[in-house]
Amino acid sequence: MTAAHLRVDLGRLCADIDTLRARIAPAQLMCVVKNDAYAHGIEQVVAAAHAHGVRWFGAFDVPMGMRARGAAGPDARVFSWVTVSRDEIATALDNAIELGVGDARYLDEVAAVSAGRGAVVHLKIDTGLHRNGVRPEAWSAFVTRAAELENDGVLEVVGVWSHIAEASDSEDDDARAVFEAALSEAHEAGLRPAVRHLAASAASFARPEFRYDMVRVGAFCYGIRSAGGPSAAELGLVPAARLEAEVVSVGDRSVTIAAGALDGLPSSLQGRAVVGTPAGARALLVVGGTESLVASWPDAKAGDAVAIYGPGGTGEGTATDLAELVGTIGEEIAVRVSPLVPRVYAGE
Ligand SMILES: *Cc1c(COP(=O)(O)O)cnc(C)c1O
Repeated sequence: MTAAHLRVDLGRLCADIDTLRARIAPAQLMCVVKNDAYAHGIEQVVAAAHAHGVRWFGAFDVPMGMRARGAAGPDARVFSWVTVSRDEIATALDNAIELGVGDARYLDEVAAVSAGRGAVVHLKIDTGLHRNGVRPEAWSAFVTRAAELENDGVLEVVGVWSHIAEASDSEDDDARAVFEAALSEAHEAGLRPAVRHLAASAASFARPEFRYDMVRVGAFCYGIRSAGGPSAAELGLVPAARLEAEVVSVGDRSVTIAAGALDGLPSSLQGRAVVGTPAGARALLVVGGTESLVASWPDAKAGDAVAIYGPGGTGEGTATDLAELVGTIGEEIAVRVSPLVPRVYAGE
């Protein structure tokens, strides 16, 4: 049986983490592992990053947070930020998962569940993205309430945070001004959050004043550069994953490879993208459901490996190169890879 597979080089992941840590120090690095670690496999990614010294992991939801906790062990800090039910709050607290709280009612829910469990929370200000987060006009009352709960020993506020668009410097600057005002108000309310965090990949790399105590980095940990942003070489990052498919049959002008839309290849790539072959870059002619056609090369044979995206060794582009062809971002190409595509790990 031939099939597609995703080769994940955990050594490269760790090398990218080194590059990021050197860049952002003394801020700490939270490795964001939502979407099954951007489809790289959360257990393997967390275990490798933890062995490499990473102590903060960011998981969108509690189930992903539990998996991160399981892979990292007790000495890591795991942060989960989506608003969840009381049952899930309890599960999070029982597993020492720190919660993002961006809503006054939710703060009280967490407080209610927290009794005897000592919730550790990070308060979220909405700095303009409008994806949960307390609006600036409601922030003062919110932090006053949080400070009361902290004084009463109900919970501990360790963080204040927000998320920014990273689409333009001027919008990000406006967001940071809102963040600064929120930090001042939190301070006036008596809170002393030790972990202030605002930036994701792009801003953490490019803009020192956005780093505060910690940065939450997803894409760049995996070597996925921003679409339309600095090149991988400028960043010094190399993608950790390579999506490969074997040649299943050879025709006159084209070969058939064992990967298609059901494996996660956007069909819009057909006629636009090139893939990597033993003879170098070749056009991706047609994307079918489970198989696709690639322009042939001399001596092509069944079993040859074709790289759909990767580090570029055989002529293929990166996930972000493909994304740019179809107007999306590299993360989107990465997370589309079907969970049924086997992950093959190297470089631990
Ligand atoms: C996805 C996400 C990140 C990481 O973003 P990247 O651009 O992949 O680094 C950070 N914080 C939050 C809240 C996120 O949702």
